[in-house]
Amino acid sequence: MEDKTLILAGNPNVGKSSVFNYLTHSNQHTGNWTGKTVEVAKSSYKYQDTTYNVYDLPGTYSLNNHSKEEELATEFLKNTYHDVTLIVCDATSLERNLNLVFQILQITPKVIICLNLIDEAQRKGIVINIPRLSKLLHVPVIPTSAKKRFGFEKLKEAIANYKLDIPIRYQQEDINTLSTLIAHQTIIQTKSPDQFIDHKVDHILTHKFFGFLTMFALFILIFWLTITGANYPSEFLFDCFNKFTPHLTKFLTLIHLPLTLIDLLVNGIYKVLTWVLSVMAPPMAIFFPLFTLLEDIGYLPRFAFCLDYCFQKCQSCGKQALTMCMGLGCNAVGVTGCRIIDSKRERLIAILTNAFVPCNGRFPTIIALTSIFIIGLSRNSNIYSAIILTLIIAFAIFITMLVSKILSNTILKGEKSSFTIELPPYRLPSIRKILKESLITKTLKILYRAIICSIPAGIIIWLLLHITLNDTSLLLHLANFFNPFGHLLGLDGVIILAFILGFPANEIVMPIILMIYLSSNSLIDISNLANLKTILVDNGWTLLTCINFIILSLFHFPCATTILTIKKETNSWLWTILSVIIPLVVGIILCIFTRTLWLIF
Ligand code: GDP
Repeated sequence: MEDKTLILAGNPNVGKSSVFNYLTHSNQHTGNWTGKTVEVAKSSYKYQDTTYNVYDLPGTYSLNNHSKEEELATEFLKNTYHDVTLIVCDATSLERNLNLVFQILQITPKVIICLNLIDEAQRKGIVINIPRLSKLLHVPVIPTSAKKRFGFEKLKEAIANYKLDIPIRYQQEDINTLSTLIAHQTIIQTKSPDQFIDHKVDHILTHKFFGFLTMFALFILIFWLTITGANYPSEFLFDCFNKFTPHLTKFLTLIHLPLTLIDLLVNGIYKVLTWVLSVMAPPMAIFFPLFTLLEDIGYLPRFAFCLDYCFQKCQSCGKQALTMCMGLGCNAVGVTGCRIIDSKRERLIAILTNAFVPCNGRFPTIIALTSIFIIGLSRNSNIYSAIILTLIIAFAIFITMLVSKILSNTILKGEKSSFTIELPPYRLPSIRKILKESLITKTLKILYRAIICSIPAGIIIWLLLHITLNDTSLLLHLANFFNPFGHLLGLDGVIILAFILGFPANEIVMPIILMIYLSSNSLIDISNLANLKTILVDNGWTLLTCINFIILSLFHFPCATTILTIKKETNSWLWTILSVIIPLVVGIILCIFTRTLWLIF
C-alpha cells in the first residue's frame, strides 16, 4: 500500500477543519469564527489502496509571516515533503481567498483548489466559472460543501489522480497579472449583497447598548435552559445511583471482599464517581450544545467585538474575549487559543487571566450551589439562578479586565495593538455537527477526565481517612491544619484541603469535600440537591461559605493540565508561576473582603 502526503491550507473560517474532518473522520474543532485552529492537526484516510496522511495547517490570510500561524504555515509548506497542497477556499469570498492561493503557488505548484461553501455561494447568488478559474490557474478546482456533504468523492478522486503536468512556479509578475484578471473573469454576483439581513442583525449585536443587552439575554437564556433542563436528569441519576448502592455493597460482600476494601470501593470510589456523573453530566450535555450553537451561528466574534471597547481600556485586546469563551469549556484549550493574539504582551495577559473564567469542571458545582444556597430549591427559581450565574460570569470578566489593566500598567507595560476581527456571515447551524462536537468531543472528554481523576483521588482520600495518628485520621489532621487559614477566608480547612487535592482536575473539589464530610456521618446519602444542602449546612456552611467557595472556585490556581499548557505556551517558569500566584492572590483578597463585610453587617 502506497502512502501520500496532503497538506490542507486556506484562509481562516473557510471550512478547512470541516473538510479535514470529513476526509479523515476526525473530530477537529470547527466553529464559525476566525482563528480557532492554531496548531497543525494530523490524520489520515484511505482511498483506493493508498493512505493519505493529511496535515491541516492553521488558517492564514497570507504567508507574510506577520503572525505565528503564518510563520508555521510557510515553514510547513516549504519544508515538509507533500504530494498535493489542497487549498480550501471560501466560494462566497473567492477574491480575498485568491491572495493566499497566489502566494502558495509561488512556493509549490502541486495545488488542488477545494472551492468550499459552494452551497452558501449559491444562496447568495454568486456564480463561479469553475473551468475558467481552473484554466487560468492551471490547477484542478473542485466545488464542495462540507455542510451538505457534497463534492467529496470528486475531491478524493482528484487528489488520487493528481499529476503535475506543467510544473509552473509563479513569479511575482505573473501573480500581479493574474490578480488583476481573475476575480472579474470568473465570479458573477447575481444578487446585491445588501439584501442580506446580516448587516441589519450586526447593527444590533455590535451596538454599544443593544449589543451588551443581547449578550446578557443570551447568557441568561443559555443558563436558564441548562439549569432547568439539568434538574430532572440530575435527580434521576442521583436516585438511580443511590438505589444501586446497597446492591453493590451486597454483591461485594457476596464475593467475599474484605470489609475495608468494600468500604473503599463504595464510600471511596463509587460515591465520588456517581456525584461527578450526576452533577456534571446533565448541565454539560445541555450547556455545550447551546454554546456550540452560538459559535456555529457566528455569534462569538460579535461578542468579542462588543467587549473590545472594555479590553482596549485595559490596554489589552478584544480577541481575549474569544480566548475566554474557549476557557469556558476548558482553560487548557483557552490558553492554547491565546495564540490567535499576535502581540506577545497581550497574549501573555490573556494566558495569565484565562483561568478566571470558570471551565466546565467548575460550572456544575457553581450551578448546584447557586441553586441550593442563593436561590433556594423552588423550581420557579431557575430564572433567578440563571441571572445570578450570568452575573457571576460578568464578575469573572470584570476581574479579568481589572487584572489585565493592572498587568498592563506594571509587569506587562506596552502599547496596545490594533484590533481587527472578521465578523463571519451568520450561518445556519448543523444540528448533527453540534451534537457530535459538543456531546462526544467535549462532554464525554471532560467526563472521562473527571472520572480518571476521581478514582485515584477517591483512593487517596479514603487512605488519608483510614490512616490514623493519635487516634485521629490523617485527613482530619490535615483539615485541622488548614482550618485557621480556611476560617480567615470564611471557609474551613476541609474546603482548602479539597482545593489542594483537586489540583489534577477542578471537577473533583466538591466530591472531595463531600467525602470528607460524609466520613464523619456515613448515614447521610447525597440522594439529591436538597440532601447536598443538608450535608453542607450540617458541616457549618452558611451563605458566606457558599459565596466564598464560588469566589475561590473562580479564582484559585489553574488545574494541572492548564498549568502544563501555560508552561508549554510561554516557555517560561516565571510566567507559569505567576499564572498560579495571580488568581490565588485575587481569590484570597476577595474572600477576606467578603468575610469582613459579612462580619460587619
Ligand atoms: P476553518 O476555520 O476553516 O477550519 O472552518 P470550519 O471547518 O471551522 O468551518 C467554519 C464554519 O463554516 C463552521 O460553522 C462550519 O459548520 C461552516 N461550514 C464549513 N463548511 C461549510 C459548507 O460547505 N457550507 C456551509 N454552509 N457551512 C460550512
